[in-house]
Amino acid sequence: MKQTICDHLQTIGKQISEAEAQYAREPQGVTLLAVSKRHPVSAIEEAIQCGQTQFGENYAQEMHEKAQQLSVLGYSHLEWHYIGPIQSNKTRIIAETAAWVHSIDRLKIARRLSEQKPDDKPAINVCLQVNISDEDTKSGVSLSELSALAEGVQSLSGVSLRGLMAIPVATNNVEEQRQAFAKVRKAMEGLNRQGYNLDTLSMGMTGDMQAAIAEGATLVRIGTAIFGIRENKKQ
Ligand SMILES: *Cc1c(COP(=O)(O)O)cnc(C)c1O
Repeated sequence: MKQTICDHLQTIGKQISEAEAQYAREPQGVTLLAVSKRHPVSAIEEAIQCGQTQFGENYAQEMHEKAQQLSVLGYSHLEWHYIGPIQSNKTRIIAETAAWVHSIDRLKIARRLSEQKPDDKPAINVCLQVNISDEDTKSGVSLSELSALAEGVQSLSGVSLRGLMAIPVATNNVEEQRQAFAKVRKAMEGLNRQGYNLDTLSMGMTGDMQAAIAEGATLVRIGTAIFGIRENKKQ
């Protein structure tokens, strides 16, 4: 029988619990973010009906439209996480829609989000995206510039600095996956030793979720394993 989105959510929930137990993590210490980019509102609705409330998107306009459509359908309890690259001219719709932004890699963007956050909305939770692979092509702040960025973001009143996010180079080698995620965890521990109070490690996708949990992920961003393969790539 064909597996439904509900089946997938259940399977992943179970895999998360098992990984928590296996790696001596606190039960329910890992949040599942359902990455719904390029999947239709109907698929999101199916996930909502199985209890999922947190959704990740990485195109600002697409997130905004889906949030509006679902709100019209009566779903007012959802939390939107923006996880994609951020252009300056998109910060306003992100500030209006997202409860979380995971992909902050420069102060200018954090400042705009902080300024453009609607007054009646709580501070936007933000993670700094770190580039642990030092690849020119990937976004993210380098480890050497992380501390300065954290200091700048911490001073903004419209955003609340919660932790770090990373997208390591894809590899099937679990040891390499773990080494990459360990770097992110150590970077967060380093900031906390400097006096920060960060509690969020946003890391792990469909292909490397277990390794991320082993290294301390508190939020995994899962798309394909929930919604299936994404077709016709935008951009
Ligand atoms: C698409 C995406 C994901 C989900 O990836 P899957 O491999 O489909 O689970 C997670 N994080 C970010 C930043 C993404 O862009």
